[in-house]
Amino acid sequence: MTVYHGKSVFGGIAIGPIQLYTKGEQEVKREKREDSEAEIKRYEEAKETAVEQLRKLYEKAVKEVGETNAAVFEVHQMMLADDDYIDSVLNIIRTQKVNAEYAVALTGDNFADMFASMEDEYMKERAADVRDISERLISILRGETGGAKTAHSPAIIVADDLVPSETVQLDKDKILAFVTVHGSTNSHTAILARTMGIPAMIGTNIPLADAIHGEMAVVDGFAGLIYVDPDEETLAKMKLRLEEEEEKKRLLQQLRGKENITKDGQKLRLYANIGNIKDLALVRKNDAGGIGLFRSEFIYLEADDYPSENEQFTIYRTVAETMAGKRVIIRTLDIGADKQAPYFQLPHEENPAMGMRAIRICLTREDIFKTQLRALFRASAYGRISIMYPMIISVNEVIRIREIADEVKRELQEEQVEYGEVEQGIMIETPAAVMMSEELAHYVDFFSIGTNDLTQYTLAIDRQNPALDDFYEPHHPAVLKMIQMVVENAHKAGIWAGICGELGADTSLTKEFLAMGVDELSVSPGRILPIRKIVLETDVGEYRRKNANK
Ligand code: PEP
Ligand code: MG
Repeated sequence: MTVYHGKSVFGGIAIGPIQLYTKGEQEVKREKREDSEAEIKRYEEAKETAVEQLRKLYEKAVKEVGETNAAVFEVHQMMLADDDYIDSVLNIIRTQKVNAEYAVALTGDNFADMFASMEDEYMKERAADVRDISERLISILRGETGGAKTAHSPAIIVADDLVPSETVQLDKDKILAFVTVHGSTNSHTAILARTMGIPAMIGTNIPLADAIHGEMAVVDGFAGLIYVDPDEETLAKMKLRLEEEEEKKRLLQQLRGKENITKDGQKLRLYANIGNIKDLALVRKNDAGGIGLFRSEFIYLEADDYPSENEQFTIYRTVAETMAGKRVIIRTLDIGADKQAPYFQLPHEENPAMGMRAIRICLTREDIFKTQLRALFRASAYGRISIMYPMIISVNEVIRIREIADEVKRELQEEQVEYGEVEQGIMIETPAAVMMSEELAHYVDFFSIGTNDLTQYTLAIDRQNPALDDFYEPHHPAVLKMIQMVVENAHKAGIWAGICGELGADTSLTKEFLAMGVDELSVSPGRILPIRKIVLETDVGEYRRKNANK
């Protein structure tokens, strides 16, 4: 048994095999092989396996993301059958008397370079595809089971780090826990883990060696420990704890259907954060009163090109219909910073967190913004949709946004397309928005405080940089004072204010938020019932009295 340490980002116990998630960019060694025909046979067999894998991926993708987005897997199958590619591999194996892995890697590099140097944009993009198929072939030739994308049964994902575009590709039903070497507390992998309610740890000193792939392991997400090849005693102890955790979850489920009301009658709305329509099952299971943050950018991250109005409309309509009249707050795309979609072709920036992201892209590229707004307004005819705008810093931005939204509504009216009543609110996630909240409140229907970015910009601490985790003080008085200020300014103008950043889920602050008068907390679905429990146990008046002199 070997124990590795990391930092916990979500508690819980997981027991299962390790699935090593590799990026596929591994060095390929050139080895002499006299028996060329044997190498060719290995290559042919790997090619067949690759075609079979791609066929399955295509079928899965069609179901999950539609035919257009799944098409890439068909393109890859065709590339594997390309005569020029095959001739090149066979020629290298025969003439250089080398291993198939090396011949594939060399062919892959040569073809990718050739595509990349072409004028035609479409052909240029094929460079990434040819690299992808070559990596797939190499990993099959090496006898690897591949990245987590090919996991067949539930497993503990061990990776260096995962970026949002990688996490969206993972089959969520097959993930028992996340264990990463890098990553930070507020990275989107951590957020995904919290949404799914699965144990996760970051900054783990685990070696990413092939030897651990498939090993049995236990993750103790509370302590931030992973036991690889656990001894019998540890396994038995952890199985018991897993059962206890399950029991706690069952007890919490008894709070379903109860109102979020304190002992002295103060109400709080408890909503869920989601990034995908697949999360809707968790939303219902955990009895959310609505959706307080749908991170719509994940629709863009899952796609290879700008999602069309109709593709988006179908998704928003599904959410609205599933939530059956409950409030659904959809945030317009928050691409940029750590959430990169290559087809946006954003320029390289020294400091992307402070760069071209979110509403700044929408106000610069109105066509993209309008497409999303049209889809949102159209979907509002099918449920209670609210729109929320991220990364606001000024009143002028909000005025411009509302003008564009009005234009969209006018166009829909002219086309006689139906839409419903839509509340429009903003995220308060920059210090500028906090300081302007008194004025901003007159232009919007609600505020939702994004404490992840607000903390990053207030404390000048990059949320992606794990080296700063020790300085990242989520309960910093500056942030808490800002929340209080935003809530007061919202109420003065007669609008409501909630929190949709990770801090909203921090149960050690639930009483404090109630005392501040926060109207809504939007959290990962799995955090709703634990917060409800605290709300039901709280007497806000008594809490205020006790803390009056502190
Ligand atoms: C936030 O910044 O607090 C937030 C909710 O948005 P995101 O984490 O997606 O940036
Ligand atoms: Mg944010």
